Amino acid sequence: MMSYSLNRKIRDLKPYDPIEGEYRIRLDANESFLPVPEEIKTGILQAVEETAFHRYPDSLAKEVSAAFADYYEVDPKHVAVGNGSDESISVILSAFLMKGDKILTVSPDFSMYRFYASIVEAESVVLEKEEDLTISVDKLIKTANEQKVRMIIFSNPCNPTSLGLQRDEVRRLIRSVDALVVLDEAYMDFWDQSLLREAAQYENLIILRTCSKAFGMAAIRLGFSVANETLTNAIKAVKSPYNSNTLTQKIGAELFRHPTLLHQGIQEIVDSKQALYRNMKELEASCHEEILVYESCTNFIFIRTEKAKQIYDFLLIQSIAVRLFPGYLRISAGNAQENAAVVAACRQFLLEGEGKA
Ligand SMILES: *Cc1c(COP(=O)(O)O)cnc(C)c1O
Repeated sequence: MMSYSLNRKIRDLKPYDPIEGEYRIRLDANESFLPVPEEIKTGILQAVEETAFHRYPDSLAKEVSAAFADYYEVDPKHVAVGNGSDESISVILSAFLMKGDKILTVSPDFSMYRFYASIVEAESVVLEKEEDLTISVDKLIKTANEQKVRMIIFSNPCNPTSLGLQRDEVRRLIRSVDALVVLDEAYMDFWDQSLLREAAQYENLIILRTCSKAFGMAAIRLGFSVANETLTNAIKAVKSPYNSNTLTQKIGAELFRHPTLLHQGIQEIVDSKQALYRNMKELEASCHEEILVYESCTNFIFIRTEKAKQIYDFLLIQSIAVRLFPGYLRISAGNAQENAAVVAACRQFLLEGEGKA
């Protein structure tokens, strides 16, 4: 009798399944709440019509890279395309790390970094954030250099904390370490501290962007990396040739042809987030600080509360899904009704005795 068993690094893994069940209001995944503008939809339908389905995609995704480069004012030579930035993270970690290399992450941060690191058998060094959830760049530099890490990866602004690191601080980090810095700017469309336009000037920087958050395109799986030519060519050389499909590339190219509509959409999301933030801050004041709402540079808010689990359960009963972390809640900005519903439910729990039982 032959026998086969899974290796140690994948044995205990479970398929990723963010949330089970149907909910009336979904504010758990930081998606955009806006529908795709009609004008862009028309262009997308046209692009689908024209698609040569029998042909393989453009493996270098030139058209969408050029449209992205145009929108962000970078050189298309410095752009590589991923099947969502999640895939870019996976490709970059497996290509730029050897088994046993050290990778420095911070905590709390996006959980996928350490997951992909474990798949390539890299050693994760984790720096805990400060009590107020900010990152100490001094500690990050010190840890990176003392531990001789090969890579540092973090999100800026951060998912889940919603806090951001000023770009001068990020520049100081990049210049003070030998490690490759992978800077995940998934939420930078909502803030103004991007390093995108200077990314190619550094030897050791890769910036990641995505269409999933600010542009309401999570469904098409489209992400980008921006870096100098050497790093970009390495990424293109190791990714699977047809990682980005033709439809996604065409839709992405169409999207970036509408900068004004994109900017309007981002402004709407930021306004909605501000309204949600203000209302939750009011609640924070009136419930004697049973909750603490952090500053937000993103399209979501982050809340510290000892009642996170109880509030989360209470919201689910009302068919409102948010994201639970131990001791924290993350709530994506929704439309006006969705925001009102989640605030009302939190208020009911905290002030009207629902949570007092
Ligand atoms: C959502 C998110 C991503 C994933 O983006 P995709 O392009 O949809 O794969 C990457 N990084 C962070 C920090 C995110 O929050």
